[in-house]
Amino acid sequence: MSAKQRIFPVFVPHYGCPHQCVFCDQKSISGQFEPITPDSVRSKIEKMRQGIKRKEQMQLAFYGGSFTAIPESLQNAFLEAAVPYIEDQTFTSIRVSTRPDAIDRQCLEKLKRYHVETIELGAQSMDEEVLLLSGRGHTAEDVRIAASLIRDFGFELIIQMMTGLPGDTISKTLKTAHKIASLHPDGVRIYPTVILRDTPLFEKWKAGVYREHSIEEAIEYCAAIVPVFQQEGIRIIRIGLNPSDDLSSGEAAGGAYHPALGELVINRMRYTEMAELLRKIPQDSDVTICVPAALLSQYTGQHRSNVEKLKDCFRLKSLRIRPVKDDTVTVYTEPFQKGNSY
Ligand code: SF4
Repeated sequence: MSAKQRIFPVFVPHYGCPHQCVFCDQKSISGQFEPITPDSVRSKIEKMRQGIKRKEQMQLAFYGGSFTAIPESLQNAFLEAAVPYIEDQTFTSIRVSTRPDAIDRQCLEKLKRYHVETIELGAQSMDEEVLLLSGRGHTAEDVRIAASLIRDFGFELIIQMMTGLPGDTISKTLKTAHKIASLHPDGVRIYPTVILRDTPLFEKWKAGVYREHSIEEAIEYCAAIVPVFQQEGIRIIRIGLNPSDDLSSGEAAGGAYHPALGELVINRMRYTEMAELLRKIPQDSDVTICVPAALLSQYTGQHRSNVEKLKDCFRLKSLRIRPVKDDTVTVYTEPFQKGNSY
């Protein structure tokens, strides 16, 4: 899929899911509470088409369930509802999300025939204990087999992983990221665990059996794994659940829900990078850090939080972050001149 292509999502919440994963409530995540049928797929697309002002490249996505585990006749009916809109070029192709244990050659052959180009595979973790405690009902080996089949068939492969599930630790999260990177997906989505009201995880949390994955912990975990994907050139499509009114107004009862989580993770990575450079600087110095202009806000952090924290942590007299045209990051002590760069 081209980077500029927009996704038009149709949610089929929990359709095809053989298990209740402890953390999941697709209805509250998607806001789709009514049952969905092939007719309602058609009417959603028609409504969207009426609102389009300018023609743009779009992919139709069936999200929120285990698409390839939906009973065959309904699965085909959903796809057939979409086909005329591929033929008239409303959409370039179709994308589906599904489970690793619901992938086989036969279903992939069928998806090819129906113009599916992208498959999002919910792996969530590559640690057997985490998978078990999360009620996933599949193994890490299922993820490996499914990913390899999807790639062999030439689909674009996106893998979804989570951090902070029951039994997870930062070292398990790191191992999961390395194992997922070794499957060579085209992209990943990283979802730190959010405790959704009335899910089994919510009950475990209330009973004190599950400790929540705080926003701070999620930032730490994600800042550790983002470089794993970046080093392999794997696109990170999203970090954190898409914000919604339902989630913000109480459906997200605890855990790592923050509308700008991805931004906080990147800011943390920039903080660590600057902290490494400041280690050599004597206390009480007046310091300027020159950073690429386009990335200035990532380095300063939200509300200049990185600047204030670094200044305190390294006991500096002053700290300025200055945008420059260069791509490099350089630290200077006052007076701000070449000989004083580190
Ligand atoms: S995580 Fe995926 S498989 Fe599990 S219940 Fe939710 S949609 Fe279904």
